[in-house]
Amino acid sequence: MANSNSRLTGKVAIITGGARGIGEATVRLFVENGAMVVIADISDEEGKKLAEEMGAHTCVFHHCDVAVESEIEALVTFTVSKWGKLDIMYNNAGITCTGQGEDVLNMDMDKFDLIMSINVRGMALGVKHAANAMVNAGTKGVIICTGSIASVMAGMAAVAYTVSKHAVLGLVRAAASDLGKYGIRVNCVSPGPVTTPLLLNDFRHFSGNKNSSMEDARAWCDSSSNLQGHSLTPLDIAMSALYLASDDSNFVSGLNLVVDGGFTITSHSFE
Ligand code: NAD
Repeated sequence: MANSNSRLTGKVAIITGGARGIGEATVRLFVENGAMVVIADISDEEGKKLAEEMGAHTCVFHHCDVAVESEIEALVTFTVSKWGKLDIMYNNAGITCTGQGEDVLNMDMDKFDLIMSINVRGMALGVKHAANAMVNAGTKGVIICTGSIASVMAGMAAVAYTVSKHAVLGLVRAAASDLGKYGIRVNCVSPGPVTTPLLLNDFRHFSGNKNSSMEDARAWCDSSSNLQGHSLTPLDIAMSALYLASDDSNFVSGLNLVVDGGFTITSHSFE
């Protein structure tokens, strides 16, 4: 096993949705572990600020809307021309689109399409173009996608989100199956509720209080959705992504690593 802070020494990584939340925590952890990281996001201000904080020798921001194929292609080209290769592609960007009808009788199909375009098409494009770059260069790389506990259960989120996150798991399995012969591993990390801006937005919607704070959302997570005496943090997910990105998971591919403190395997009421 590598030293605790050098698991990714010399590796080049792209992290989509890296400007905040789970992506931000992963950027910080990957840089701390020796990787050169490209933050790919549509939130230019947050992404540039984080890259500046990490330092230009090890981190850079690149604007990219993951739903647009030409932008994903440009992202991969930019990364390879900047740092010579691509070892790790972390497809993490995703949205919930809270506010759409919560059940199947009330689906708003425009919002359904929007969620699919980012959560499914965006991840598929990331897999496709990263895999092509790796195969062409002969790189035995790693691809990770962020799923959700909504990848393995219903009733936790709007229908479209559940559908999209089930699809992410299908994408990971299909890609792991196709890319194994090139020595490329593909895995999914599936978080339970994590206190990020995305979760706060959802919490404000279903609590009916637009002024809820991140502390309110964290308190809700603490009281209703964890089994470990504390709520899940972005760093917990980043640590799992680090495991999947590093040689510590050398023979792991096609896995859905559910990081939820045991939530999905326990009977519970989610209120
Ligand atoms: P977040 O909203 O805090 O961060 C998401 C990031 O993705 C933002 O920086 C945003 O600008 C970026 N993004 C959104 N659309 C984009 C696009 N089209 N192209 C590029 N970047 C885009 O959310 P988060 O909670 O950190 O979520 C990250 C991932 O984790 C998502 O895939 C989400 O579905 C998943 N997830 C989150 C939770 C949770 O409770 N927070 C639980 C399970 C899964």
